[in-house]
Amino acid sequence: MMNYSAGEIYRAARAIQPYLVDLLNAPNAQRLERKLEGLLSEASLKQGSHTELSQLLSEHESTRDWLRLYLEESYPAEDILKALRIYYPLSGLEHSVESPRYVCPVENCNQDWYRQSREAEIPVCPVHGLKLIIDS
Ligand SMILES: [Zn+2]
Repeated sequence: MMNYSAGEIYRAARAIQPYLVDLLNAPNAQRLERKLEGLLSEASLKQGSHTELSQLLSEHESTRDWLRLYLEESYPAEDILKALRIYYPLSGLEHSVESPRYVCPVENCNQDWYRQSREAEIPVCPVHGLKLIIDS
């Protein structure tokens, strides 16, 4: 069980929402999204829903670790997925390091692609027409 204050739990529960689809498989992410929405409603907050929120977010190792990095190590929310992939190179996280990431060589271009098999041909960036390069 996590030991965070109600305020911290609410802050983290709001911050984690956009990342649930990356942290969990689709059915779990959808279930959690629905529950979070309910628990973060004003009426629920007044009734002290943080205990339930805390339980919900500690059900899965990935969400538990997300919260820990966010609340205890003050990681910016947008950097946590990257940090978690370093922690769990072989986990069920989609796009883990098992599938190497390829990016456009043009700086600030956001095109990326994950090579799922050795046979997969490396694509070109649809914006710049350049072959993607492995992300180091
Ligand atoms: Zn590009």
